[in-house]
Amino acid sequence: MDEYSEHSGTDVNEDLDEETLFVVSQTFKALGDPTRIRILHLLFHHEYSVNQIAETLRLRQSTVSHQLRFLKNLRLVKNRRQGTTLYYSHDDEHVINLLKQTINHAYHC
Ligand SMILES: [Zn+2]
Repeated sequence: MDEYSEHSGTDVNEDLDEETLFVVSQTFKALGDPTRIRILHLLFHHEYSVNQIAETLRLRQSTVSHQLRFLKNLRLVKNRRQGTTLYYSHDDEHVINLLKQTINHAYHC
């Protein structure tokens, strides 16, 4: 049994339920933005503060904060506070793997 049929709980021939469809389309929407892709890619291996992300990717802090809020609402990133600094890391292996797969796909196009 593959991972899909294991988690679907329904016959694979049946239609997806509305909630699943919503989450899947939100996930692709989250990955459908170049800035969010760059941020998630940066967070593949370790955590970064908003400042560090902004400097590394040469983005405005306000842009980074905005996109991190978006990703956090979808629980694709999480943060922890150390002193006055928030450090962000990814919070979902599935979506990181999806992004890795898609980057590999881009390399052979
Ligand atoms: Zn491919």
